Amino acid sequence: MAKSKFIFVTGGVSSSLGKGIIAASLAKLLQSQNYKVTIQKFDPYINIDPGTLNPYEHGECYVTDDGAETDLDLGHYERFLNENTSQSNNVTSGKIYQSVIDKERNGDFLGKTVQVIPHITNEIKLRMLELSESKKFDIVITEIGGTVGDIESLPYIEAVRQLIWDLGKENAIVIHLTLIPFLSAAGELKTKPTQHSVKALMESGVSPNILVCRTEHQISDNIKEKLALFCNVKKDAVIQSIDADSIYEVPILMLKEGLNNVVLKELNLSAQKKVRMENWNNFLNKLQNPKYEINIGLVGKYVELQDSYKSIIEAMIHSGVVNNCKINIKTIHAEKINLDNVSKETKDLSGIIVAPGFGERGLNGKIATINYVRNNNIPFFGICLGMQVAVIEHSRYVLNLDDANTSEVDKNCKNPVICIMESQKNIERLGGTMRLGSWKCKLKKNSIAHNSYNKLIIDERHRHRYELNGKYISKLKESGLEATGINPETNLVEIVENTNHPWFLGVQFHPEYKSTVLNPHPLFNSFIKASMNYNISN
Ligand code: GLN
Repeated sequence: MAKSKFIFVTGGVSSSLGKGIIAASLAKLLQSQNYKVTIQKFDPYINIDPGTLNPYEHGECYVTDDGAETDLDLGHYERFLNENTSQSNNVTSGKIYQSVIDKERNGDFLGKTVQVIPHITNEIKLRMLELSESKKFDIVITEIGGTVGDIESLPYIEAVRQLIWDLGKENAIVIHLTLIPFLSAAGELKTKPTQHSVKALMESGVSPNILVCRTEHQISDNIKEKLALFCNVKKDAVIQSIDADSIYEVPILMLKEGLNNVVLKELNLSAQKKVRMENWNNFLNKLQNPKYEINIGLVGKYVELQDSYKSIIEAMIHSGVVNNCKINIKTIHAEKINLDNVSKETKDLSGIIVAPGFGERGLNGKIATINYVRNNNIPFFGICLGMQVAVIEHSRYVLNLDDANTSEVDKNCKNPVICIMESQKNIERLGGTMRLGSWKCKLKKNSIAHNSYNKLIIDERHRHRYELNGKYISKLKESGLEATGINPETNLVEIVENTNHPWFLGVQFHPEYKSTVLNPHPLFNSFIKASMNYNISN
């Protein structure tokens, strides 16, 4: 039997209430009380992972060190806890069904009829217990994606019901995150939707131990009493979660509401341990009292949905704090920018990031942007596709290779300065087949990268199929675009820098995945600093 204690987080009334942030905030508080905590997310959709999902559907695809393509909530877990997650931290219905069907084909069920209960629920339970098997964690928090009442989440709720029975009530509890809407016509907060969603949960045999109530207005004692009475929880287990300016305030708001101690009491664990949030409070204090302020442009093709670039936006916030600087992010749609309007569009910006992406849409806008920032000494940070486009721009406008391109968009291109990686050539299936996860990179001494990281060997996470074509490395270098980071085993180019520019750097990897509150990323720190300098001198 697993030794870890389990906290299940379900959602009611509405989606997008921020279960991930509540789970990460609670985990942070418990971690600060010296408990070893991890968080996992179960997504009820049928995709095996979000790797093949369009970012408009589900926001950014977050990548772990071990190469899992996961839900963006795992990014919050890592940023809050400053600890790595892995393949086991994100499970989808697709994964569950795939392994049950594999077992059926192997004959593992000995001729039985394979059913949702018990076969699918057993598989869910196995996965829910998996992280605790390592014996590394005192507490495992499990976020159940979706909203109670969805057809898709029923097997998960059933698995939670069974697990509470298997593990005992003092070892497994449920936090239900719900919405308390404010009806402005009535001037009142309303509890009925929550009563209904708790009722739906109870019909599945699960009673929440704790209610976390999302609200735009203070919840009075009366309302707490009413919620406690109707929803079968103790009054001090009704926790208010009021809208905050920043997600990084949420752990402190939850601490004030006593969420961590109610949880510890319910789990029969000591609530006496001191909460040590000094570092977090320092971060928050600096975030709320910046000395400087700059505008940074983010050029991408999914900018309508900010979640598409979640980790980049958070990494900029972290590095802004390091530099005592408030970062205003101006998103620019890559399809709406061109050589004619780029100077107007970037007028008030002190630095520009060109975002990762796939395919042809928006590519010309990215090329135009990079052309402008290169010629005007504006700090530039290209991430993944952003780096590849910087190479295309340089090849076209500095090396005069007019037809230079990436073979991702032009297979028959005569100057494929970006080309498919050798290891990718025979891959046909899309899901999980990119170059993924953490790879080593050796930096050139005294490059911007080396001066930022302050070491020569680094590890960063990847998610791509194309690379800088080795045939062009020396021509690019002679004309000012130098490869300053190389993978030592494969010689793939991981970083390029323009040596005639104050801060022009492109990375094939995704530094944004590794920036955390306590460990802001060195390249973002350096980019923000360069952008602040640009701001002063222009
Ligand atoms: N489309 C490019 C590739 O596959 C870049 C991917 C990315 O930006 N994540 O190499």
